[in-house]
Amino acid sequence: MIGTTKVGPVHHDPSLPAEPERLASIDLCAIRHNIRQIVARTSPAAVMSVVKANAYGHGAVPVAKAALEAGATWIGAAHVAEGLALRAAGIDAPLLCWLHTEATDFAAGITAGIDLGVSGWELEGIASAARAVRIPARVHLKIDTGLGRNGSTRAQWPALLERAAQLEADGVLRVVGIFSHFAVADEPERPETDEQLQAFREAVAQAREAGLEPQVRHLANSPALLSRPDTHFDLVRCGLATYGLSPFEGVTSADLKLRPAMRLSTRLANVKRVPAGHGVSYGLRYSTDRETVFGLVPLGYADGVPRVSEGGPVLINGSVYPSVGRVAMDQFVVDLGPDADEDALLGAETVLFGGEGAPAVEEWARAAGTLNYEIVTRISERVPRRWLEAPSAGGPQDKRPQDEPPQNQHPASSEEGQ
Ligand SMILES: *Cc1c(COP(=O)(O)O)cnc(C)c1O
Repeated sequence: MIGTTKVGPVHHDPSLPAEPERLASIDLCAIRHNIRQIVARTSPAAVMSVVKANAYGHGAVPVAKAALEAGATWIGAAHVAEGLALRAAGIDAPLLCWLHTEATDFAAGITAGIDLGVSGWELEGIASAARAVRIPARVHLKIDTGLGRNGSTRAQWPALLERAAQLEADGVLRVVGIFSHFAVADEPERPETDEQLQAFREAVAQAREAGLEPQVRHLANSPALLSRPDTHFDLVRCGLATYGLSPFEGVTSADLKLRPAMRLSTRLANVKRVPAGHGVSYGLRYSTDRETVFGLVPLGYADGVPRVSEGGPVLINGSVYPSVGRVAMDQFVVDLGPDADEDALLGAETVLFGGEGAPAVEEWARAAGTLNYEIVTRISERVPRRWLEAPSAGGPQDKRPQDEPPQNQHPASSEEGQ
C-alpha cells in the first residue's frame, strides 16, 4: 500500500451547481433569525447591525440588507469609506461611522447622509465640510467612559458639548446621538461596566444641560445587549451577535438562541497512507506513531486559518479529526487514522466550522489562542463567499425554525459581486 499512487474518485454530483474549491457560505436566514432574536430582546430600543470589516468577514452588503429586512433599523461601520460603499450598494438606512483620521472624506460622508461619530478633533473638520457642501452634518458625540480608545475625555466633554451646541444653533450640524463603548461587558461579573454606565448617564445629563437633545443614546455592544438590559437606552450596536456568535466564554450560540451564519469548507486535496515515524509540515512538529492516512486540507494562513492553530478540528464524512503540524500558507494536514479509506476520502468535503455536526468557530479560536471575532473576520478574500437565501441540504442550517416563513421571493443563493 505505502508509496503507491492512487487516483481516487472525486466526489462531484454533476446535477449540483459548480462548487468553489474553497467556500465560506453565509446563511442569510441565520442573520435574519439572529436579528429577530436581538430585536425581541432589546425592543423598544432600536437595533444597529454593525457590519464593519466586511461584516466580520460575512459580506457587508448582503448582511446589511438581511439585517434591515429582519428589523434592524440602523447600520454601523468603523470607517466612512465602509459607509460610502454601503450607500453605493443602495443601503439607505441610518448609518453611523465612528473611526476617522485627518484623511477621512467628511464631505463625501455628509453628502451620502452618513452620521459621523465625534470624539473631539473631528468636530471642526466636519463643520467645515458641512459648510462646504451646504448640508448640516449629523453627528454622534462620543464620551470615553473608561475604554481608553476613542471618545472625549470627561475633562474635555463640557467644551465639546458647548462647541457642538453652538454649531447646532448655527445650523451647521445636528447632534443626533451620544454614545460610548464598553471595555469588559463580556465578563459580566466585573464592576467596570457599572462604572461606565454611570459615567455615560452623567455625560448624557451634561449634554441635556448644554441644550442638546440627542435622539439616540447608545452604549451596548453584543455582550451588553445580551446580558444587561439596563444598558440598552435608545439603540444597541449589535456586531458579533448579528453573525450568531457568542461573546461570552463558555456560553454557546445555542445557549443564546443564535445561529452561526458562516460555514467554512473545502475538499481534501490529497490523501495518502504513510508509515510510522513520518513528519508533517514545516518544522516537522508532528510525527506519526503508527502507519496512518494523511488528508491534505487546501486552506492555510493566507485564507485566514491561523498559523498557530495546530489541533484545530475538521469534519470529514461525519467524523471530526484534528489538524496536525504547522498550518502553512495554503494548506494543513489532518491525521485520518490507519483505518481511513484513501480512495473514498480523496475529494471528501472538509468542514472547518459551521453547520450540522461541524466544529464551532470557537474551537478554532481556542486552538489559535484568540476569539471567534478574529477567526471569522480574518477569513481572507481568497475564499469565495456564497450567500444562501434558503437552507440547502448540507448547508449551515438545514432546519428552519417554525416561526420563519420560507423566503421564496429570493433566489436560492447568490455569489461574489453583490
Ligand atoms: C465593533 C463595535 C461594536 C460591535 O461590537 P460587538 O461586540 O461585535 O457587538 C459596537 N460599537 C463599536 C464602537 C464598535 O467599534
